[in-house]
Amino acid sequence: KAKEAGRGTHAFFEDAMTQQLRREMEITRELTQAIQHDELFLEYQPQFDLHSGQLVGMEALVRWRHPREGVLQPGAFLPVAEKRGLIRPLSDWVLNAVCRQIRDWSERKLEFGRIAVNLCAQQVGDPDFGDNILVVLERTGAPPERLELEFTETVLIAADAKTQADIVRLSELGIHFAIDDFGTGFSSMQYLRKFRTDKIKIDREFIQDVTHDAGDAEIVKATIALGTALGLITIAEGVETEEQAEFLRRHGCRQVQGYLYGRPQPLADIERQLHPVNASHH
Ligand code: C2E
Ligand code: MG
Ligand code: MG
Ligand code: MG
Repeated sequence: KAKEAGRGTHAFFEDAMTQQLRREMEITRELTQAIQHDELFLEYQPQFDLHSGQLVGMEALVRWRHPREGVLQPGAFLPVAEKRGLIRPLSDWVLNAVCRQIRDWSERKLEFGRIAVNLCAQQVGDPDFGDNILVVLERTGAPPERLELEFTETVLIAADAKTQADIVRLSELGIHFAIDDFGTGFSSMQYLRKFRTDKIKIDREFIQDVTHDAGDAEIVKATIALGTALGLITIAEGVETEEQAEFLRRHGCRQVQGYLYGRPQPLADIERQLHPVNASHH
C-alpha cells in the first residue's frame, strides 16, 4: 500500500512538472511571436522631485497584451524569458521602443524629463554594450540626454573594465545611469565610486515599512546619506503613503516614484500630463 501511495505521489509530481514545463514552453513560443508582432507595450510610471513636485522623468515598464489571457505583468513572463533566452530580444525591443518615444516627444517639444529603461544582464554584459546603445540612439534619433539606463547591483558587479569604459563614454553623451533595487543585491561602496552612476533607486522593500520598522528606517536614512555624500540623486521606489513621503522628505531623499504619485500608465494617459517645453507651469 505504502508502495502504491509512493508511486502515486511520484506520478503526481511528475505530472506537475510536465505541466509546468509545457506552460513554460508555451509562453516561450508565444513570447517569441509577441516580440515580433508587437504584442508587447510599455507603461510609464512618473517620477517626481520630492521638494518642487515637478515631474522629473518616468520609468518605462513592459507589459504583454496576450491574445487569450489579456494584459500580463512582467512577473508573469520575465522569469520565463530569462530562463529561455528571450530576455535579450525582449529588452532590446523595449530599448528601441523607449528611444522612439523619446524622439517623438522631443520633436513635439513636450517636457518629460527622462525616460528610464531597465536593462538586462545580457545587454550590459555584451562586449558591444556601448556601441549597441549608440546604434539605437542613432537609428531612432533620440537625444541621449533624455535617456536613463537602469540596472541592478548584480549586473554592475559582473561588469568588467570594458563595460566601465562604455558607461563613461555613454555618460559623456548625457545618458544617466541608475542603480535599481538598491540595497537588495551585493551593494558595494567600491562600485558606486568605480562606476559612473547618477542615481540610486532605493528598493520598495525598504520603503514599504519605513514608517513602522526601525531597521528599514535606518537603512533608508543611511542610503540617502550615502547617495547625497557621493553627489548622487536618490529616488525611493514604491512610495504609497503620505507618511512615507514625509519621512523621505525629512531625510533628504530627492525623488519619488510610487502609487501615491502615479501608477504605471499607458502612453495616452501619461502624455496627457506632459506640457510643452518652456510653457509656464503656473
Ligand atoms: P523595477 O524596475 O524595480 O520596477 C518597479 C516595479 O515596482 C514595477 O513593477 C512597478 O509597477 C512597481 N511599483 C511602482 N510603484 C509601486 C508602488 O507604489 N507599490 C507597488 N506595490 N508596486 C509599485 P512591474 O512593472 O511589475 O515590474 C517588475 C520588474 O520587472 C521591474 O522592477 C523590472 O525589474 C522588471 N521589468 C519591467 N519592465 C522591464 C523591461 O522593460 N525590461 C526588463 N529587462 N525588465 C523589466
Ligand atoms: Mg527599474
Ligand atoms: Mg526598481
Ligand atoms: Mg524594485
